[in-house]
Amino acid sequence: MPELPEVRVVRQQLNKYVKNKKIKEIHVFRDSFIKEISVEEFKKELKNEIILEVSNEGKFLVFHLTNEKIIISHLRMEGKYNYFSPAKNRLNHDYVLFEFDDNSNLHYNDTRTFGTFHLRNKDNYLTTKPLNKLAKIPEYTNIDDFFNKLQKKKTSIKTTLLDQTIIVGLGNIYVDEVLFATKISPLTQANKITKEKAQEILEKATEILDKSTALGGSSINSYTSLNKKKGSFQNFLQVHTKKGKPCTICKNEIVKIKVNGRGTYYCKTCQHEL
Ligand SMILES: [Zn+2]
Repeated sequence: MPELPEVRVVRQQLNKYVKNKKIKEIHVFRDSFIKEISVEEFKKELKNEIILEVSNEGKFLVFHLTNEKIIISHLRMEGKYNYFSPAKNRLNHDYVLFEFDDNSNLHYNDTRTFGTFHLRNKDNYLTTKPLNKLAKIPEYTNIDDFFNKLQKKKTSIKTTLLDQTIIVGLGNIYVDEVLFATKISPLTQANKITKEKAQEILEKATEILDKSTALGGSSINSYTSLNKKKGSFQNFLQVHTKKGKPCTICKNEIVKIKVNGRGTYYCKTCQHEL
């Protein structure tokens, strides 16, 4: 599943390939990807519009088009984009094809079929679902707001940091890494986290997410960004996927446990319950 750094890399790649492309036609091969409106309406609204820029809000990709139109795309488990110039025919598991007027095309591929597309406009895309409830990424999170939210949570810090209404952009891989970097046990109750530790979580999370973005994200569990480009941050992971390996600090074995159903890796010696 792509996490924030991986989605940022897809966004960078999309800007490289599809910025300023004019949509000649959109082909949809499975209606359920298009949310709220009919496929016909989706196609009609986007025909002849130009992609001006692609941004991201947390893990949502936001295509900004002419006439203030917006497409919000979420990759969910396995969504991927592939760009072809000259255009290629539909390939296996391609469900949405953006045909451009310069004979190139963008394929949205999704083996698990959980991805989503919402059509919005510039005025409403941040104030309606799915973006209106989204919290901020660590870099833009206010420490007082964040600390207050943690104070109200009795669930484990691992589970709490995965909640995108508390903080955006930390998935299973990066929560494990941030908790190792801040020496906090994933089993610590969120309301036991001190304000100093909460501040440290925001700082380390920003650092780790930025480093991973710079390295093209982490390519584990089949993740590749646009046109099958792989990232290399998996080579810098300290605990996630490292069960049985020595901790880089104390040399004791990294353990794997389940926290609220999610595989969780940590060092019992270096990380403490608060
Ligand atoms: Zn250790």
